[in-house]
Amino acid sequence: MPKLCKAGQQLREQIDDDYPDRDRKSDGWIADARHMAKGTSDHIPQDGIVRALDIDADLNAHKEEAYALVEKIRKCAKRGDKRIKYIIYDGKIMSPIMNWKRRKYRGANPHRSHFHISFTTLGDKDGSWFDLEGDRNERIQTDGGKLGENIPRDGSSDIPSGGLGSRRNCKCGASISLA
Ligand SMILES: [Zn+2]
Repeated sequence: MPKLCKAGQQLREQIDDDYPDRDRKSDGWIADARHMAKGTSDHIPQDGIVRALDIDADLNAHKEEAYALVEKIRKCAKRGDKRIKYIIYDGKIMSPIMNWKRRKYRGANPHRSHFHISFTTLGDKDGSWFDLEGDRNERIQTDGGKLGENIPRDGSSDIPSGGLGSRRNCKCGASISLA
């Protein structure tokens, strides 16, 4: 059974934390049979891994929220997170070409109902936290590495979860296994 790459799983989880009541109708990751047949999409599993994620643009918030979120992902990639390969949203594509500048996307689907994120092979096993706010270092200093309130989940109380949105990962920089 193919799996979504670790980076995709992590990014989706961060978005779910930030927008818990978002609409997921246009979400997706694995290609359907029709797209499989066409043969060129990061949604098609390669060696059992899907390296693309679609997120519904309806974040159950104002429309500009989707733009703002795409902008955060774009800036995160621009700052050097090489797991992100490219992003498509609302007729624009953003990629390392022209240093993540928004360029016109000429594909058949302009991607208005959802935004698409493709990942590089670096994201296959690397599910570390995406620094979407761009304040990872600052946060470590100002918060002194303290974790948020622990909310038990799946019977375990070691996993900080909920309440703090995308801050679910340990701010001291240590990785927390959610497996
Ligand atoms: Zn897609």
